Amino acid sequence: MTKHAFPTDCPCGSGKNYKDCCFMYHMEKVHAPTAEALMRSRYSAYALRKADYVLYSWHQSTRPAELDLSDDRTKWMGLTIVATEGGGEADEAGIVEFAAKYKIGGRAAKLVEKSRFVREKGRWYYVDGQVEE
Ligand SMILES: [Zn+2]
Repeated sequence: MTKHAFPTDCPCGSGKNYKDCCFMYHMEKVHAPTAEALMRSRYSAYALRKADYVLYSWHQSTRPAELDLSDDRTKWMGLTIVATEGGGEADEAGIVEFAAKYKIGGRAAKLVEKSRFVREKGRWYYVDGQVEE
């Protein structure tokens, strides 16, 4: 059995069906219209272990050569968008602060990060992030 093969509820916590939410972006046919939408789709990609999409949405200037998300000890439990700055459909840059709950080897943990995004030729990309302690 494949875990998280095709979830009904989108992992990003939008309350929408995955098919009508991040799936559209994961198919790489529709671009996320805002930095927040891209952030959500990247979180969902981590939750569903779609390393290809995480790399696809990463700006080439900071993108790692490869990414391995196959370690199944890490389970992403939920995303909260804390704040956004810019990142709208008319912006070229944006910041999204988020909190992501996860479990590693059964222990609960939380990642709080301020991520930077840029938009180039109509596509948003993740640039980098500042993790808060
Ligand atoms: Zn979603």
